[in-house]
Amino acid sequence: MNLRRTASAMAAALAFLCGGCATATRGVGDEPAKLGDEAATAAEVIAPSNAPAAATAPAAAQSASSAPAPSPAVAAGVPPDSSKKTQPAQKTSAPKPPTPKPWKVELKPGSSSALFDGVRVFLCHPAIPRKVAKGGAVASPLDQRLTVAAITRARATPLVNGRALRVCLDPGHGGEDSGALSRDGKTLEKTVVLDLARRLKRLLEADGCEVLMTRESDRSYPTLNARVARASRWKADLFVSLHLNANEKNDPRGVETYATAPKGSESTSWTGASPRPESNVATPGNAHDVGNAQLGFCIQRRLVAASGLPDRGLRRARYIVLRDAMMPAVLVECGFVTNERDLAVLRSSAGRGKIARGIYEGICDFALGTMAPGLPAHVSGTGGLGVRTSGQPDRSGDAQQKPRQQAQPAGGGAHAAATSGTRPISFVSGGDSRVAPYSAPKPQDGQDAESLRAARQAALRAAGF
Ligand SMILES: [Zn+2]
Repeated sequence: MNLRRTASAMAAALAFLCGGCATATRGVGDEPAKLGDEAATAAEVIAPSNAPAAATAPAAAQSASSAPAPSPAVAAGVPPDSSKKTQPAQKTSAPKPPTPKPWKVELKPGSSSALFDGVRVFLCHPAIPRKVAKGGAVASPLDQRLTVAAITRARATPLVNGRALRVCLDPGHGGEDSGALSRDGKTLEKTVVLDLARRLKRLLEADGCEVLMTRESDRSYPTLNARVARASRWKADLFVSLHLNANEKNDPRGVETYATAPKGSESTSWTGASPRPESNVATPGNAHDVGNAQLGFCIQRRLVAASGLPDRGLRRARYIVLRDAMMPAVLVECGFVTNERDLAVLRSSAGRGKIARGIYEGICDFALGTMAPGLPAHVSGTGGLGVRTSGQPDRSGDAQQKPRQQAQPAGGGAHAAATSGTRPISFVSGGDSRVAPYSAPKPQDGQDAESLRAARQAALRAAGF
């Protein structure tokens, strides 16, 4: 009896904390406030100082040199001049790294909605309008570090080395907690996300990944804390929670990915008059703010491309499973069960396959360090996410074929080396590479939004914006 009461309480708590339900309660007005100033569309990013074109080559070289077993051709390429005359055939073998395109980052003054290579990303703070030079906007110092730099300076090396990547998949809800429901009550969130997790598990395991599911059936409903604790005990490298969205209106549709909000910023959907006290407190999940943003961006980008569903962006929220995660963690809302077009995708096996594949490709991008655009996605089943024990040969076609049971770095050295994640940043209009001389005043306990805004305006004026 107590069990049943506990279960109901847990179900209620899960429902309250679920992204879908949160969306349902906050309504459709969660898009960023649109600025009336039509002229203020020009955007620029003040990025950390970098050496644009030159940044790519050393990174690729570094990755290549870190590969433990370079192919004979690569090794032979290392000695200088003297060997060139006698061995002209060497040049045929080493794969040429593709030239990465620059990042295109678009900010709107006063808006937290930004585009990174066309993928929507919500900033922690609205972009700061500039009054000097050509106008435009700069990202807040927090966003420069944890959004702009995090995404555009993503790792160019594999996440793990010499062992299998461990991914914890968390199909939301379960048991008596069905999660969101379609209008006709026939499609349950808990069932769809379990199916998605199983598909994702198969794709990851085909690459040698180790996968743990927080629930294997629809009969169980682990608490949110239990899900997080299980991932920690298992020493997962990544945590990916799967959910579906819902809204009281029919129109909202699309996919969105959440990372926990960094200390000093509110959740993307927060519309309260003043920041909540907890927004200024660091949580365990904040230890991976950079990885959270990178993983979230990778998944959102691939998910949108693979599913064809609208892009609702990378967002921030302190969901328990993200807030307390001890590893990079994201929560993916894989479409709206309350929208007819999304529902058609979610109900079809092919549609769910595309969603799972998009998330899988995003995980690959993050784990392998291949975020440059225009690169083909990692080929499923070709290995690279872990060291296999089955002894299957590497079928990825690179020059360093060897049985998988021999220790080889997860990530497939040549593949990762050929695709550096470090790319220059392209400024959409104007722009420079200096760091903004501005430090946003932090919200004080009990301070209302008006007074915080005034303090920030004063600091901006003092800094010359
Ligand atoms: Zn949910």
